[in-house]
Amino acid sequence: MSIAACRICQAPLRHTFVDLGMSPLANSYVNRRQLNQMEPFYPLQVFVCDCCFLVQLVPVARPEEIFSEYAYFSSYSDSWLEHASAYADSVTRRFGLHGNSRVVEIASNDGYLLQYFASKGISVLGIEPARNVAETAVQRGIPTLIRFFGDETARELAAEGKHADLIIGNNVLAHVPDLNGFVRGMESLLRRRGVITLEFPHLMRLIEQNQFDTIYHEHLSYFSLITIQKLFSCHGLKLFDVEELSTHGGSLRIYLCHEDDKEKAISERVKDLLSREEKAGLTKLEQYLSFGDQVKQTKREFLKFLIAAKNQNKSIVAYGAPAKGNTLLNYCGVGTDFIDYTVDRSPHKQGHFLPGTRIPIYSPDRIGETRPDYLVILPWNLTEEIVTQMSYIREWNARFVVPIPAVRVL
Ligand SMILES: [Zn+2]
Repeated sequence: MSIAACRICQAPLRHTFVDLGMSPLANSYVNRRQLNQMEPFYPLQVFVCDCCFLVQLVPVARPEEIFSEYAYFSSYSDSWLEHASAYADSVTRRFGLHGNSRVVEIASNDGYLLQYFASKGISVLGIEPARNVAETAVQRGIPTLIRFFGDETARELAAEGKHADLIIGNNVLAHVPDLNGFVRGMESLLRRRGVITLEFPHLMRLIEQNQFDTIYHEHLSYFSLITIQKLFSCHGLKLFDVEELSTHGGSLRIYLCHEDDKEKAISERVKDLLSREEKAGLTKLEQYLSFGDQVKQTKREFLKFLIAAKNQNKSIVAYGAPAKGNTLLNYCGVGTDFIDYTVDRSPHKQGHFLPGTRIPIYSPDRIGETRPDYLVILPWNLTEEIVTQMSYIREWNARFVVPIPAVRVL
């Protein structure tokens, strides 16, 4: 295999952060018709750059294969809507957005976030490559360009005079193959006193909390604040503030402006987090190289639990069909030999099968009908919510199992 180059600094990628073996695309749910067909599996090997410390995958599938018909509609989740509405209020106040301002969101999904700006009379524009969700946004009155964002899109918009006072990119950076082009694009689209805010899962949390299952082919890059600050500063953008959020097991929201924007001073929170990351070893290669052993250990512990339960003739089912569950189950080699089925509230997933493991997905009602002994919570970031919602399994003395960061039986 030839050595690939770092997505940010082009240094050769010589070090493995973690190797999760061969895995199917985590969002490629299998339907009944596809059950007797083969599925493509791709290597899920993550590298760390010894120069800029970007943790990254080498792309294996074209973005069009992954994003043209995206199954996830943001508006379905109540907690996301609250998060979005609170964010819109806060930035509108903090940066004094008004009727003549323009907000551009990259990867705007079905327009769930931009609707809160539009309702304040602020002009909005969404950019979204997945046609099915973009069309939903247009139907609800959110102007949306159906395409990928990059250098070229940004230059076209800038040439039309459509500069932005606020550019938003939530959970999109990890998916971008050409990071430098993407950041250059944001820089050229941003008005002189404008602000960019981006949200993405925090690499420090991924390592600390052993969240290796959040690694899948769609997520090409995993960022620390240290690395992301370097990336943006190469393109004339200043990181002036950061917030730590609880979403996705621990995310960062960063705030950026043009380097020469003297109105925005770098906050203490930026300095504090940079120094905490350094203390956590994120500027030392050895820290990254030890992650793989931690992951193998987790696999052995999870299998130990499953084998012991099956040897006692216990029945095990799962809750949820998130992408992260597919990484966990495929990496651990766990199929219907251990887990009879999983359930999901999304009607888009019910009646399908998990990619690779082919575990069937049913409606949550099935749990009351089959009364399993253990319920493995795959979306561990929603454990509290699921334990409350499914508390009736205690009636037949069933137990909840959370696999990450380490197996816990509740
Ligand atoms: Zn690099």
